Amino acid sequence: MSEPLTKPDHDVIIIGAGISGLYQLHCLRQLGLDVHVFESGTGVGGTWYWNRYPGARFDSESWSYGYSFSQELLDEWHWTEHFSPQPETLRYLNHVADKFDLRRDITFNARVVAAHYHEPTRSWRITLEDGSRRSARFLITAVGPLSAPTMPRIDGVESFKGQSFHTARWPKQPVSFEGKRVAVIGTGATGVQTIQEVAKTAGTLTIFQRTPNWCAPLHNAKISAEEMARIRARYPEIFARCQETFACFVHTPDPRGTFEVTEEAREAFWEKLYAEPGFGIWQGNFRDILVDRKANALLSDFVARKIRQRVKDQQVADKLIPKNHGFGTRRVPLETRYYEVYNQPNVTLVDISATPIQRITPTGLATSDAQYEFDIIIYATGFDAITGSFDRIDIRGVDGLALKERWKEGPQTYLGVQVEGFPNMFMVMGPHTALGNIPRSIEYNVEWVTGIIRHMVAHGLTRAECRPEGVKAWTDHVKGLGEGLLSNEVDSWMTGINRNVEGKQTRIIARYSGSAPAYRARCDEVAAQGYREVSLS
Ligand SMILES: Cc1cc2nc3c(=O)[nH]c(=O)nc-3n(C[C@H](O)[C@H](O)[C@H](O)COP(=O)(O)OP(=O)(O)OC[C@H]3O[C@@H](n4cnc5c(N)ncnc54)[C@H](O)[C@@H]3O)c2cc1C
Repeated sequence: MSEPLTKPDHDVIIIGAGISGLYQLHCLRQLGLDVHVFESGTGVGGTWYWNRYPGARFDSESWSYGYSFSQELLDEWHWTEHFSPQPETLRYLNHVADKFDLRRDITFNARVVAAHYHEPTRSWRITLEDGSRRSARFLITAVGPLSAPTMPRIDGVESFKGQSFHTARWPKQPVSFEGKRVAVIGTGATGVQTIQEVAKTAGTLTIFQRTPNWCAPLHNAKISAEEMARIRARYPEIFARCQETFACFVHTPDPRGTFEVTEEAREAFWEKLYAEPGFGIWQGNFRDILVDRKANALLSDFVARKIRQRVKDQQVADKLIPKNHGFGTRRVPLETRYYEVYNQPNVTLVDISATPIQRITPTGLATSDAQYEFDIIIYATGFDAITGSFDRIDIRGVDGLALKERWKEGPQTYLGVQVEGFPNMFMVMGPHTALGNIPRSIEYNVEWVTGIIRHMVAHGLTRAECRPEGVKAWTDHVKGLGEGLLSNEVDSWMTGINRNVEGKQTRIIARYSGSAPAYRARCDEVAAQGYREVSLS
């Protein structure tokens, strides 16, 4: 690498030691670079380090979620369940960190509060929460699409005298619900997982629901040693399939349209999908269910019938059936006997769209029509998704331009990897990249970033910045892909809405909604042309 005026402390700084940061560290080390990771947690794992709430687990098949880059790792790791629980996933990521000796280049308990680009030295200077500073030629953000938790904007949260937890900041020591009066606020994917677990032991469980979500059965099962051996033998086939499918899952849309089959065939197909494990009913359904209003309404009706069959009290069932969005237009929580929880005598559902929570009190909470007393309040109120972790860092590019300012009308990116005015900064799992079964996208993203850095090192280049025309083209492309999608007509974290975060009340296109193979093809093309589209010097 050619020498700038002063040599930075490192070649590369990575923010975050989740699946993205760990793999990025591993890949860049192979180039012989000095790479350092700063992680605000006290251990590796990101999502799987923070989300220790009861019932936390994958909705992706475990064996399609793990890293694919190391044959040795694939050969030695035994997933014990088809949808791994959080403790096992965390063990897996610790195993990866040990196996590839990653910890020696990670500083834990180190929150990055600022990252400023310095043009004269073509480097980034980061500041940690404790005031210390480091510099590097390249800055890689691996800060996570779902890692900035949000609390509800309700008065009195601090006044509660019992125990209270946000699901993504769950304590390391176990929490007992035995005989306790427990409240769960929020019924997204995390709320659903929490509720079905807490209901097993809580004295009473009161669920505060603002928007019901369309949930579908997970159908989890254990994996025996013999079955794991069979899965191992199929790994090449599994990963090849994930490369081909729309969103890197083992499931992909059925080529048929909803109305191209008879009613009997349609019902039979949906019954089959409802009885199968994983996201098949969402990701492997008829090709038009997320774009054709009538098809979507029919499928929603099918799932509504299932909810009515499973919940005894039809008034409660009605509250659990979404009315403001169709099936699959928001992230579908997968569940295990979630709806049956509402048949338990100790469980109450409160619709807070009808009777909003007005304040948290020292002993519980007050809605517009009742007072409740609790021992434990669980906030399953989710994340400031995709851009939230960026917003929490003071990131400044050329001439002190703030990233938040650049993105005030919504993210603008080049391939979801770079931002104009922020040279030498690369994003892994930033806005506008293919998400889906995320580790598959992470591996691609990380390898692409490694590729461009390898190219720069080989050619003695020290500055990489995307061009305005590249940013416009990619941002327009991503916006275009969103047109016609029913999911983009719905308020959700996927459209950038979070009622608990100031300034996040307008829908934006933060997500790339095209196919993962198309995303990779575009990025491959850029690499094959020697990154000519990026301004390198
Ligand atoms: C409960 C839950 C279940 C999920 N289930 C699935 C699933 O089944 N399938 C799927 O594909 N995806 C799932 N996801 C998405 C999941 O986030 C990704 O699969 C994946 O873990 C993302 O990895 P990452 O490394 O990019 O980000 P993360 O795992 O979020 O890691 C980012 C890291 O960056 C750190 N960080 C952020 N900001 C700073 C800062 N300023 N300074 C220092 N460190 C910082 C964070 O502490 C964190 O450790 C789930 C997410 C959640 C929350």
